[in-house]
Amino acid sequence: MGKIPYKTYLTEEEIPKQWYNVRADMKEQHDPLLDPATLKPVATEDLYPIFCEELSKQEMDSTTRYIDIPEPVREFYRMFRPSPLIRAYNLEKALDTPARIYYKFEGNNTSGSHKLNAAAAMAYYAKAQGLTSLTTETGAGQWGTALAQACAFFGLDLTVFMVKVSYMQKPFRKGVMETYGAKVIPSPSDVTSVGRAILADNPDTGGSLGCAISEAIEMSMTDEKCRYALGSVLNQVLLHQSIIGLESKIAMEKIGEYPDIIIGCAGGGSNLGGLMSAFMQDKLTGKTDSRFIAVEPASCPSLTRGKYAYDFCDTGKITPLARMYTLGSGFMPSPNHAGGLRYHGMSPILSKLYHDGYMEAVSVEQSKVFEAATLFCRQEQILPAPESAHAIHSAIEEALKCKESGEAKTILFGLTGTGYFDMSAYMHFNEGTMNDHIPTDEELELGFATLPPVD
Ligand SMILES: *Cc1c(COP(=O)(O)O)cnc(C)c1O
Repeated sequence: MGKIPYKTYLTEEEIPKQWYNVRADMKEQHDPLLDPATLKPVATEDLYPIFCEELSKQEMDSTTRYIDIPEPVREFYRMFRPSPLIRAYNLEKALDTPARIYYKFEGNNTSGSHKLNAAAAMAYYAKAQGLTSLTTETGAGQWGTALAQACAFFGLDLTVFMVKVSYMQKPFRKGVMETYGAKVIPSPSDVTSVGRAILADNPDTGGSLGCAISEAIEMSMTDEKCRYALGSVLNQVLLHQSIIGLESKIAMEKIGEYPDIIIGCAGGGSNLGGLMSAFMQDKLTGKTDSRFIAVEPASCPSLTRGKYAYDFCDTGKITPLARMYTLGSGFMPSPNHAGGLRYHGMSPILSKLYHDGYMEAVSVEQSKVFEAATLFCRQEQILPAPESAHAIHSAIEEALKCKESGEAKTILFGLTGTGYFDMSAYMHFNEGTMNDHIPTDEELELGFATLPPVD
């Protein structure tokens, strides 16, 4: 074989026709969702008032290994998929490493992120069920944008509760979502009772994802033709995002590669879950022994410093309880810039895989993340989202270890998106005014104190 190309694409025909459900190959399942009032496991029908029916079924399905991607969703995917698998030749050269570094670039759509993969599925299923609108939350804005895109395409109204600090930091995000027809409300707001309660307790809060989730769910419950959509954490989202890893695996087969190390940033776990699932299948079935690394911000370290416990998925405590690595639903992350990674919990699937030793986790301070982002954009010509740059940082570290040991490992990481809406953070970094907030143990205890007494 000649030189491996910079970019490996699939043909449109080669785009997978089914999503892969990693739960079907897990030795043990994560603990069930619990009703917070009775502490009894939630049944699929219990989810119907929150999510549309097909998505509720996917949420609870631990046995169906492959699930067909509906044809209208495949059509939608063809507008921005396949995404390229890129060989980071220039980054390798700059690091002088024998490692071969690949990244899967998911930023080539307006949301500038992988989130459109799940948004398309959710909007399609909601429309197919005859619903007229969706509500959601957004932190950094990528998810709200992705869902606004998908709702505009499939013909649904959308209300987005946007975490207030991000709303202030990123006014153009609001403009983009409105251009796609969405209504954007800064959270906490006074349009929901849970928002009013949070404001009464803490009038100056910059909000959090957990809080915006509560508001979006409350609004969806007041309208029979409306449901709620969540862009991360859930099993259904990992399922939809599995397209990332399935495509990566086919592309790597084409060039005769297989990753020794798979790296992704981890906020709620959707991109990493999606990137790694197809490879995790090989590990779970004993075919390979790759390493999987989740990279989280030191300011919101759910895997590396959180507790594996039942917790609410939102601050207003209206969701079912999920067993996951969590900092406590009352944890209020510092208003730093890793917007999309500021969630108190972690996907129950990833939490279980981590707990059972199939996955590793590291945390990185923000200024180190931006150092990695800067090196990367100068070498590879893509300005990464700060979230994605967490994965870049870890990929660089692993490549430097290879330099020391002389091993030519194959590294694959997820470049989840672009950072054009994060220029104020980049400018803080460039001016040397970025600060690294690492919560003290005492600060974390405040969050843990909000855990419900379940176990
Ligand atoms: C939302 C987001 C993330 C983090 O969310 P996960 O669910 O952990 O993947 C990472 N990168 C980008 C660009 C995002 O928009």
